[in-house]
Amino acid sequence: MRSLVLLSCCLLGAALASSRSYDGYTVFRTGKLNATSAKFLREVQMSSNLIDFWTEPAPGRRTDMMVSEKMSEETKKMLADNHIHFHTMIQDVQKLIEENDAIAKKMKKMKNKMAPKKDYDLDWDDYYDHDVLNQFLDALAGANDWAEVINIGQSYEGRDMNVLAITKAGPGAPKVWLEAGIHAREWIAPAVATFIVRELVENYAAHPDYVDKLNWYLLPSANPDGYQYSRDSDRMWRKTRSPTGSIFGCKGVDPNRNWGYHWGESGVSNDKCSDIYPGPEAFSEIEMQNIKNFVESLEPVPILGHCFHSYSQLWLWPYGYAYNAYPPNREEVEQLAIDASDALYQVHGTVFDPINSAELYPAAGASDDWYKGSLGSRFAFTTELRDTGRHGFVLPADQIIPSGEEMWAGFEVVINKLIEVSEKEA
Ligand SMILES: [Zn+2]
Repeated sequence: MRSLVLLSCCLLGAALASSRSYDGYTVFRTGKLNATSAKFLREVQMSSNLIDFWTEPAPGRRTDMMVSEKMSEETKKMLADNHIHFHTMIQDVQKLIEENDAIAKKMKKMKNKMAPKKDYDLDWDDYYDHDVLNQFLDALAGANDWAEVINIGQSYEGRDMNVLAITKAGPGAPKVWLEAGIHAREWIAPAVATFIVRELVENYAAHPDYVDKLNWYLLPSANPDGYQYSRDSDRMWRKTRSPTGSIFGCKGVDPNRNWGYHWGESGVSNDKCSDIYPGPEAFSEIEMQNIKNFVESLEPVPILGHCFHSYSQLWLWPYGYAYNAYPPNREEVEQLAIDASDALYQVHGTVFDPINSAELYPAAGASDDWYKGSLGSRFAFTTELRDTGRHGFVLPADQIIPSGEEMWAGFEVVINKLIEVSEKEA
């Protein structure tokens, strides 16, 4: 009997261990921070891993932080002691995760009844595994002789990092680089990036210029190990999955702090357990090396490097490593972010703020800074997709299509600008 109890306890333990539970985890949202309270919370973020900052503390902005039930009272007291107003935004993160799984299941059921036949499993009614994203690239490449899949290397755990290359425009045409999924838990990012590329390819006839005049390169899964880990084991995982040598066994590097342009100068923590650990050196992560090597091989240099993240609804333009650090062509970069956000708003009334990355919070080692500052792209953007925090990273699957639709509208503005400026120069 005793051994039976032991056995069942361990089986239960194993079942629970397969996916981390966020039972009782709460997300607090502060009021707008002033310089003092932002600085205080930045210090908390750098020095403790007990609070998961879903958004970065910055003056003039609110910040969202997830805490366990155990940490809840202590966090409330800390905020109150420092005169920081806050309210509970998400009462129970686990419940939200489960509700969203149910939404996706329900949508799937409805869809299966009337699904047209296609040669890939990906759709935009749910979030999918790394392999399904790659299968989608294979299917598009198989169906179009001007598209191909390029393997740019493997992740630390050996997953294929595949890029869809759409090269109908031919040699010498301007190139666009799209990168999604560098932060594992931001599932909406690969979903929207693939939505955009589907529109480009499968709806080619509606806007042939976009593909006839530009070459496209899409990497939908820039951090495959982290992404798959967030799907299988820990929904809130953000980093890569490489070993760090941490004495606590903490794994992974923040891949969007790992790039070699002003690496490590701001917005990072040297604590290997931190979510903003930039790695022991720039490009320590094999995934980032793979991307770097590939984009450096592109000729001409991509005119745009675009990164998909979530959340906060922002159209960010560089640089992000420091305040008041702007590219020489700041004016056209900023204007394009503004114009794209305006067009995006027209679709579903979703407000995206077109702001400088450092204005949000200075953070060095992000890929968009590197695309702009080191690679030499004329334009570089990071879009923080839906929402503004109601669901945060756990964005319901029924928001994928509207997110894709509005981003597509923003992208059309960008695409037309890219075509216009390159024709002017030709
Ligand atoms: Zn991100």
